Amino acid sequence: MSRWMVLLALLAVAAPRAYALPECYHTLDEIDQFLTDLQADHPDYIHIDSVGHSQRENLPIYLVRVSDNAAVRQDRPATLLIGQIHAEEVLGIEVTLRAIEELVTNPAPRFRQWRNNLEMYFIPTMNPEGLRVVHGEGDDLVHGADSTYRKNKRDNIGDGIFRYQLGRGGDTSGVDLNRNFDINFFHGDTLFHHLDETEVFDYYRGPGPFSEPETRAIRAVFHEINPLFSVTYHSSRSGNFSEKAYYPWDWGNDGERLAPDQAVLDDIAQGFAEQIPRLSGQGNYEFLRSAGRNGKMHDWAYAEGGWVNLQAEIGSTNIFPPADVMNQVVEDNLNGVYYLFDRAMASPDLETASGDLKITVTDPDGLPLVAEVFLPDYHDGYLKPRMTDPLFGVHRRPLMPGNHTVITRAYGYLPDTSVVNIGDHFETPVAVTLQPLTRHNVSVLVRDGDQPLPAVIVVHRALGVDTLEVPGGTLHASWPEGEFTLEVWAEGYIPKVLTFDLGEAREVWAFMVAPESVQDEDFEAPLSGAWIQDGEIPWGRSGLYVHEGTYALNSAPDEFLPPDAEGSIQVEYDIPAGSESLVLTGWCAFELEPDDDFGTVEVRFDQGSWMVLDTLNGFAGWHRFIYDLHEGAAGASTVAFRWSVSTDPTDGDRGLFLDDLALLAASQYLSTPGEEAAVPLRWALRSAYPNPFNPVTTLRFEVPVRARVRIALFDILGRRVLTALDRDIAPGEHRLALRLDTLPSGMYFVKMSAPEFHAVRKIVLLK
Ligand SMILES: [Zn+2]
Repeated sequence: MSRWMVLLALLAVAAPRAYALPECYHTLDEIDQFLTDLQADHPDYIHIDSVGHSQRENLPIYLVRVSDNAAVRQDRPATLLIGQIHAEEVLGIEVTLRAIEELVTNPAPRFRQWRNNLEMYFIPTMNPEGLRVVHGEGDDLVHGADSTYRKNKRDNIGDGIFRYQLGRGGDTSGVDLNRNFDINFFHGDTLFHHLDETEVFDYYRGPGPFSEPETRAIRAVFHEINPLFSVTYHSSRSGNFSEKAYYPWDWGNDGERLAPDQAVLDDIAQGFAEQIPRLSGQGNYEFLRSAGRNGKMHDWAYAEGGWVNLQAEIGSTNIFPPADVMNQVVEDNLNGVYYLFDRAMASPDLETASGDLKITVTDPDGLPLVAEVFLPDYHDGYLKPRMTDPLFGVHRRPLMPGNHTVITRAYGYLPDTSVVNIGDHFETPVAVTLQPLTRHNVSVLVRDGDQPLPAVIVVHRALGVDTLEVPGGTLHASWPEGEFTLEVWAEGYIPKVLTFDLGEAREVWAFMVAPESVQDEDFEAPLSGAWIQDGEIPWGRSGLYVHEGTYALNSAPDEFLPPDAEGSIQVEYDIPAGSESLVLTGWCAFELEPDDDFGTVEVRFDQGSWMVLDTLNGFAGWHRFIYDLHEGAAGASTVAFRWSVSTDPTDGDRGLFLDDLALLAASQYLSTPGEEAAVPLRWALRSAYPNPFNPVTTLRFEVPVRARVRIALFDILGRRVLTALDRDIAPGEHRLALRLDTLPSGMYFVKMSAPEFHAVRKIVLLK
């Protein structure tokens, strides 16, 4: 040991007593020893896996599975307890360890029942390196143990020094792991504008969502085990938040933004909290919907997979009470844990208002299918698809009693719609067999003349998007019947959009044309006078989030979108004379409050009326877009684009981002041989497909001669709600996608009009 090390060791010993924990709290080594010993004694009941590592010290994060046959995964309801996320909040580790011990050693029938009917998972600590700081372990603790430490140990400055101070709030290093999840991440707590050690913050959210390996490990665990119920333990340093269970979500004022499954979340949180007496002996734990929007695990877990995650704040004002009080807190909290075990196995003795759906999805051969289980009555834009798991084809979900419409769907299969009656107090099993759709061979041939071109083909199909590398210029595939839109990208060529309905084997030719003119904008220089703004939401350059370079265009740059506002920016370009091909490409990202705030992209030719190209809502990272405008280009001399954002009264997100736009033109447009052969001889407006739909449907119409065509949408009172098309259209069969996120559910009429033709079709938007 060097003299320096001796000095550090002395400092550690000399750390103030106030910062040391009572001996009854397990150190990281003691946790590992505890689990190893228990596994040695009860190998059938405990299985231990490393599921990731800590950010700085690469310490393993352990996941413990307890059941009667713990070596294998079984098709049973799963529960998950996470003992600790914030380093100093160590009480939950003790609850977790005690629960594991009881489950494997207690001979009472209820413990055997849980072992035989559940898969019970435990992560005693998901912040092992933070825990070591709290216990005074580590060579870099120049100030000694810090029992107020909260975060992991990320080196935020990058100078190799672990920068922390004794006492709360003085730490420059570290990320608050419960601010690092990707829901509402940018509303969470930040710092580090200057990157020096004078900046200290206890709630730093990290450089990006899921920047930390600890949160990525937890994300993988949730996806792997699909816990029906989970608890993450915290303790309140001030005592202000102690003895409560928080759960998703009530954001905004007065119930403006509730979780769609609010009733069932309320029921479970209430059932859990009411089992746990307060230390004072007066009353039980409270249960509260979380109101904060800042990248927390429980909001993420519910939005991501429908996993019910309770944030239990346990203990009272002293977060390291002495052994006798600690034991009382642990004993009291085991009641809550056992309640969730009973609830997960649908124990008939339990008082609960809710029941569970267990849906098993297979193909006709009985093999499990990964499928989406969609409940249209319990959906909003924050929720990601609820999926069956690949091992068993099973999805479990708590629901309030009554009839529920359940749509089960997987790519390549006919969807199933069932009405399921859920009772309280038990699990309702439903088995669904999905029938495969007929598949057809497809060849996509990307060519310059007869020369094959290496390409990337982005396939927009039912329930998703696939990006395929096609280095040889020819793609052979077998796809299920249905609608496809292909974006074909070849380096040095104008990208192309091809849409078709696959009902038989098909060859699709993509004849590519090199651009003869390129007008581009990377937003690195200040905006020219060609960019015109309108409305209350300002647009401008921002360095906050860019695709390439230093700047991107952003609505309300460097701010969240203001409430109840609208604002647009537009730009007009000259179209080179004689252009037949015309495409706008670029990069786009958006963060627009789901279902509430919207972006719109519009185009117009020769200062005519604006037509909607795209409607944007929800969250999307940087992605390349393409608007193929060849149908409007012929004969036009200018084209203008307008991007608009509109917000509702609740909190806005970071808005719409654009970067690296390019308007590409050429004097040729080469359609596929099939397209040319299919020029129809009469006017027609076909039925929309799909119909009913949510939120996108496709209109097909036929035009025998070049003419000005107008397609507009009217509500049942005859009011025009949208102009989808109003321009000169070339002869041929055409498709037009209608995206109606902004309109309420209901019946609408599509009216198509041209000088010698009028037609109306009924469509139904079903949200
Ligand atoms: Zn906490």
